[in-house]
Amino acid sequence: MISKDVQKAVGFLNRGEVVAIPTETVYGLAGNIFDKKAIDSIYAIKKRPRNNPLIVHINNVEKLSSVASEIPDIAHKLAAHFWPGPLTLLLKKQVNIPDYITAGKPTVAVRVPDHPIAIQLLADLDFPLAAPSANPFGRISPTTVEQVDSYFSNEIKMVLDGGRCKKGLESTIVGFEGEDVIVYRLGSISREDIERVIGKKTLLVNKEENSPKAPGMLLKHYAPKTKMYLVDNVNTAIQTIDKERVGLLLFKEPIENPKIAHKIVLSSAGDLEEAAYQLYEAMQTLDKMNLDYIIAERFPAFGIGNTINDKLERASVQ
Ligand code: AMP
Ligand code: MG
Repeated sequence: MISKDVQKAVGFLNRGEVVAIPTETVYGLAGNIFDKKAIDSIYAIKKRPRNNPLIVHINNVEKLSSVASEIPDIAHKLAAHFWPGPLTLLLKKQVNIPDYITAGKPTVAVRVPDHPIAIQLLADLDFPLAAPSANPFGRISPTTVEQVDSYFSNEIKMVLDGGRCKKGLESTIVGFEGEDVIVYRLGSISREDIERVIGKKTLLVNKEENSPKAPGMLLKHYAPKTKMYLVDNVNTAIQTIDKERVGLLLFKEPIENPKIAHKIVLSSAGDLEEAAYQLYEAMQTLDKMNLDYIIAERFPAFGIGNTINDKLERASVQ
């Protein structure tokens, strides 16, 4: 069922059911963090490996100390600046946070989503929500109710309709190690934005092999079923096309070529935010077109262009 009724969602969640909920990043599959059965269902529905922990969602910064402990000043500063918003903080967990949320780790990932319906829902519940992206493990994250429904119409009782996600990329995950501020996942907030707030550089530790702290940073992720190739120069790549049905995923220039079966331009204005907003839906659209493969254009390497490139790399043939 797709519904805008927040109280219905409250009822399901209070009874330990899983509900898909809107956030500003992508739709999440939400459950009570203190209900092991609900959390087990989230992992089962997503087919997500148990060593991949979940993000805890709270509705205001005052609740942070009930979820995390030993919070560094710099974390408070980031929370004050970016919450509600797409920034996830990785902190030492409070004793009452269950191990099945953190995959047995001493750390917990936590954020305040910037979506009025998610905030209202959390305010009406007396527990935080775990809410990983509402897609089967390894598939593209959903930014619309229709996409959630096409993944899980048989598995979940309710999708809470909050419209299309206004950011369209996951949250940026940040942790703290001594004096260092470490970005474990590139997301909707750029490293440059974080660095402006903290007044120093961040470290990027976001590949599985060098990131024991944040499992789930799999190199292959967010992938369409159709093969995708990420290229620096689309015109050069077009010259080597040897198949009938090839699609293009482009940043701003609408390349015309008779060899191309379908193309999507993410932002003809050249706006990275707009491109991020369109990205996952465009990947879904191309994936449904029976293409032989997709050629994706690499984005400029600054701001959330770096995040988009990271997502495209994980979605592409390496
Ligand atoms: P998703 O819920 O699909 O947006 O993915 C959440 C990601 O957050 C996981 O893949 C982990 O990399 C990261 N994460 C969540 N909780 C923790 C934790 N306690 N320690 C380290 N990383 C975490
Ligand atoms: Mg995910």
